[in-house]
Amino acid sequence: MLEETHRAARNLAETTELGSPGQRTAEILATAPLDVGPLLGPVLDGDRAALEREAVRLQLEAGPLAQILDLALQPFLWEAAAQLAKLTDLDRWDRGYCPVCGAWPGLAGLVGPEKRRVLRCVRCAAAWSWGVLLCPYCGNDDHRRLRVLLEEGTSERIDVCEECHGYVKAVSAYTSVSAAQLIAEDVATADLDVIATDGGYKRPGDVDVATAGVPRSSRQPRPEGAPS
Ligand SMILES: [Zn+2]
Ligand SMILES: [Zn+2]
Repeated sequence: MLEETHRAARNLAETTELGSPGQRTAEILATAPLDVGPLLGPVLDGDRAALEREAVRLQLEAGPLAQILDLALQPFLWEAAAQLAKLTDLDRWDRGYCPVCGAWPGLAGLVGPEKRRVLRCVRCAAAWSWGVLLCPYCGNDDHRRLRVLLEEGTSERIDVCEECHGYVKAVSAYTSVSAAQLIAEDVATADLDVIATDGGYKRPGDVDVATAGVPRSSRQPRPEGAPS
């Protein structure tokens, strides 16, 4: 993991503006004998406050530190997702967050002529099928409160939820794409992120595992006096 951290930091140091705080952090991390173990939990959980505390302790910038550790973790997460996919049917996962690493989906593939929606985790490349009329974030399953931005019939679209204002961009996919292709696809569809955020939609922050993607209609409280 330390080797991967050094590699990710070297890449970032070479591609970031010279003298910027990010570049300085990357340069330090490219050779530092850092104990990455305690940092992995906060990175995986997206625990920004814990990362910021660690960044202060290490006298580094929190943003680049998180970015480098995320990149360093990716090869391990890809391997974990590939191994898990052999052991269990990830496609049947029924929550809105990634079954392997816990992140929100980064995009969706619309697979085959029937355009089956398959959510993809951009961090670990895990894939799982998901209904069109269900928000993976808040579990909204009221079709009147779910919309599609962009013309239907094109190869790209954005599914949005009027309850949590979350969005998931989607692209046509005829086969399952590799982790590297997935990252390229995510970058190539940045225009969809702009359209969605300009429209007031966002990718949510923290994952609430109790509600993420659990259909609201199935967790509404029973009316008073109803038999249990
Ligand atoms: Zn994942
Ligand atoms: Zn929602």
